[in-house]
Amino acid sequence: MTAVEVTGLTVRYDGATALDGVDLTVADHQAVALIGANGAGKSTLVKALSGLVRPASGTITVNDRLAQVPEGREMFPDLTVDDNLRLGAWRRGRRNRDTQRLYELLPDLVPLRNRKAGALSGGQQQMVAIGRALMADPEILVVDELSLGLAPLIVGTLAAHLRALHTDRGLAVLLIEQNARLALDLCDHAYVLEAGRIVLHGPSAELARDPRVTDAYLGAG
Ligand code: ATP
Repeated sequence: MTAVEVTGLTVRYDGATALDGVDLTVADHQAVALIGANGAGKSTLVKALSGLVRPASGTITVNDRLAQVPEGREMFPDLTVDDNLRLGAWRRGRRNRDTQRLYELLPDLVPLRNRKAGALSGGQQQMVAIGRALMADPEILVVDELSLGLAPLIVGTLAAHLRALHTDRGLAVLLIEQNARLALDLCDHAYVLEAGRIVLHGPSAELARDPRVTDAYLGAG
């Protein structure tokens, strides 16, 4: 069983190739990272998974219980945290879905529930974005740039929550992340995307000591 299966995915924009024959698999209950520099094609892959760009060739199969934590978080700033969370359930047609279970899962959100999302810090908003995605009761979470613009301390907290959701509850995760160290720490398996191609993939522990990864993505030493 797979949560996501991408084979031979090629995407072009006006003739420029953004993804070139990408193969990527996220098995059920697996946490997989996709790392790569700016412009490598990560956002294009996310868009292809959600059907926002049409592949030139290749196939994409996704579990229908896939939820996304979008890059930039996309809160409704004038709505409360509670209302932002409820919006995550709407997509599954559960308008009145109770947020109680979610607050048990992410208790850090409890004291924020009546605050307007726009008044929260970036890290708090990211927590709400994760919570909103979980409201759809997904089997796989696609997290686009968990750490972007956030302080290391809050990134650590968010990563710990995601790890717990994966290890304790079997949630599959596809983490698209510029911070390679975070991605390799969090995920069991990783893919490295360069100029639209997967140049390396394997268990995170192996990639973390591969000189091609340490030199280009993890800094010296
Ligand atoms: P970033 O981290 O900066 O978002 P990325 O890895 O997500 O980078 P993409 O945004 O997927 O990379 O871009 C891959 C390539 O496709 C880049 O060369 C980019 O310039 C190009 N590209 C992306 N979107 C478009 C578009 N709408 N039209 C033309 N070219 C595009």
